[in-house]
Amino acid sequence: MHCPFCGADDTKVIDSRLVADGGQVRRRRECLSCKERFTTFELAELLMPRVIKRDGSREPFDENKLRSGLQRALEKRPVSVEEIEAAITHIKHGLQTTGEREVPSLLIGERIMDKLRDMDEVAYVRFASVYRSFQDISEFRAELDKLEDKNRDKLESKSRDKIEDKSGNKAESDR
Ligand SMILES: [Zn+2]
Repeated sequence: MHCPFCGADDTKVIDSRLVADGGQVRRRRECLSCKERFTTFELAELLMPRVIKRDGSREPFDENKLRSGLQRALEKRPVSVEEIEAAITHIKHGLQTTGEREVPSLLIGERIMDKLRDMDEVAYVRFASVYRSFQDISEFRAELDKLEDKNRDKLESKSRDKIEDKSGNKAESDR
């Protein structure tokens, strides 16, 4: 941030507060060269993208929905509240860094399944089956296959066995 008085780029933030419902940050800065003070309004750089629902309508991202989905899947599983909160942070951060202003709800479902698969296999299967009941089965399978292909590409062969075990288990429980 350049000083508007002398153009120096060494400025120090002396106060910082959220304004406009947290969408903006108001900063009081002091120039280290000329000691003048000035105020900046900065847009929060990483906003949560809006969610495109399956019917094409849009809604704001709802962290509580994400949390309750994870909690439901992880009910009575040996996973701590801290781990759930870390997963929420991870998923949110992942969505923010897509750089998209809107993301399909399917993508969020994928990210949740991705995370649950790492955390707890039972919760993963629970979530996947609930998630599936909300939509067409073939579409769900296609998404799941895509996810598995992606992971297969990403992981080394030692993890490959594990994934194939999991999809094998899942296939059995389908029948
Ligand atoms: Zn200055």
